[in-house]
Amino acid sequence: MQAVVFRREGVVETTQAADEPRLEDDGDAIVRVRLAGICGTDLHVLHGSIPMDPGSILGHEAVGIVESAGARVRSVAPGDRVVASFQIACGACWFCRSGQTGLCEQHRMLGGGPFGGDLHGAQAGFVRVPVADVNLLRIPDAVDDQAAVFVGDVLTTGVYAASLAEPTADDVVAVLGAGPVGACVTRALLADGVQHVVVLDRDATRLEAIAALGVTTVDPGATNPEMAVARMTDGRGADVVIDAVGATDAYDTALEIVRRGGRVVIVGVYSSQRVELQLGVAWIRGISLVFAGETPVQALWAATLDRVVTGALDPTPLITHRLPISAAAEGYDLFERRVATKVVLDPWA
Ligand SMILES: [Zn+2]
Ligand SMILES: [Zn+2]
Repeated sequence: MQAVVFRREGVVETTQAADEPRLEDDGDAIVRVRLAGICGTDLHVLHGSIPMDPGSILGHEAVGIVESAGARVRSVAPGDRVVASFQIACGACWFCRSGQTGLCEQHRMLGGGPFGGDLHGAQAGFVRVPVADVNLLRIPDAVDDQAAVFVGDVLTTGVYAASLAEPTADDVVAVLGAGPVGACVTRALLADGVQHVVVLDRDATRLEAIAALGVTTVDPGATNPEMAVARMTDGRGADVVIDAVGATDAYDTALEIVRRGGRVVIVGVYSSQRVELQLGVAWIRGISLVFAGETPVQALWAATLDRVVTGALDPTPLITHRLPISAAAEGYDLFERRVATKVVLDPWA
């Protein structure tokens, strides 16, 4: 099989993998991958902020067909079309049993390097998925691969972020970032019936694409975001702000544009960045600050998939490039340069 491997910092390449994955535990399944996504997290691997051993396979977003399953697997069987969760949860710890799989005590991640449990990734012909009963979801015929691939990661993250935001239909909700996560957050808010969504991003192409959903857009490079949001809210500021970027300037903007008594939901991924928070200002303004953490995919993905079936959520317009896996390096480059919004790879093309 072909696979996308990490070679060294800044370099990924498609190679002919020496070995196909095999069942290692009776809870495992092997999935023949039909489509694998490239995600922002893969760029962190590419650039070394998530460590990975050279030769390891990248990727954590996959749709495919179950090739084989261990003796203990009950919820899927060979031949089933499935989506994998990016996060590999144990299903048995207190957090998993409470539906908080993002906080699993034995948290792992496909293609996440040593900190992700050293599992090979999904940008390959086949991938081994541990605890298949928990980490694979069957896909109904009505949902095609290109929609389903989002359900194991960013679309369900959008649904999760919207649920943490708890907006009312009348709230003004500002979304920072129009990349794949911000676009999925926006779709989830609209599906929830939120009427006033304003999306902020500096990328004109991404803003134009998201404006087609009927939301207001602001380019913070051209318009002061605080002023722009104040104009929409009689000077109050946004009721809810969702940071779908994960950069300190986005965090700062979130606190600037939220109204007194408002809520900031941080879904963008942070690592070692630090910010100053003037506690007295946050206190007197009565700000609720919610850190999303990793999305509990398994708790929300069935409901997310249902909404794809009904048409309430359609992430497929986000796919700008569908490439054979042999062109993976080019796909990473297009995504990194923001020429592509979402790249999906076909391992068998
Ligand atoms: Zn991802
Ligand atoms: Zn667990």
